Amino acid sequence: MLNHRFTTALFAIGVGAVFLCCKLGTPCFNVSLALIVFLYLEIEFLGAYFIGLNFHLPSLNYLDKTKPKIALTFDDGPCNPQTIKVLEVLKKHQVKATFFVIGKNIAGNETILKQMISEGHAIGSHSFSHDYWIDLWGKKKLKEDIVKSLDAIKQVTTKEVKLFRPPYGVTTPNFKLVLHDLDLRSIGWNVRSYDTSNKDINKVFDRVMSQTKNGSVILLHDRLDQMPELLDKLIPALKEKKFEFVTIE
Ligand SMILES: [Zn+2]
Repeated sequence: MLNHRFTTALFAIGVGAVFLCCKLGTPCFNVSLALIVFLYLEIEFLGAYFIGLNFHLPSLNYLDKTKPKIALTFDDGPCNPQTIKVLEVLKKHQVKATFFVIGKNIAGNETILKQMISEGHAIGSHSFSHDYWIDLWGKKKLKEDIVKSLDAIKQVTTKEVKLFRPPYGVTTPNFKLVLHDLDLRSIGWNVRSYDTSNKDINKVFDRVMSQTKNGSVILLHDRLDQMPELLDKLIPALKEKKFEFVTIE
């Protein structure tokens, strides 16, 4: 499988071949080099953007595909009142889920985090800042941010979190180094609901229902106002298909 190290090695060989085969400054040299750089950057970008490719680091993107067990995962909380309503629906249907919380959202929402734990849900970190440019940060700054989120979770729940979902699902070589240092497991997904860009819950429902298979890890966002209504429809329909809900732990 193509990964960052292999792609970089191929890139180096390609550049070496251009220097060997084409004279400096000729069209052969310029065009070949431009093409190789373009291809390299394109592959690196796609590898960073699609977590399921395991390009920069291995992520858990699905569970055992031979068993009808699936995981609902929620990003971006805790939020008041949205997450509280999501917890209500999960309780009503007796379903456990995994929440990837943003550290900066914890202050003021400590009781929601405690409720997640007491009701049997799993918690992972989704960074402290969820900064828009986090993928471009250096290792030191990235590590400080993630450590801050782990500390914030531990202060409220006393739990040592071992799961991490990269913000925007983007992975980079720095994420690989930091997650390794902190002994965190990267968690991706294989069912993307597109719930943040699609406000029509029927369309999100249809998408999730058609894509969910044995072992699916489903990406959802508990910060969305429409999430409780969607879940109230989705959970019974998935149960009807004999799926069993598990946490990622
Ligand atoms: Zn997020």
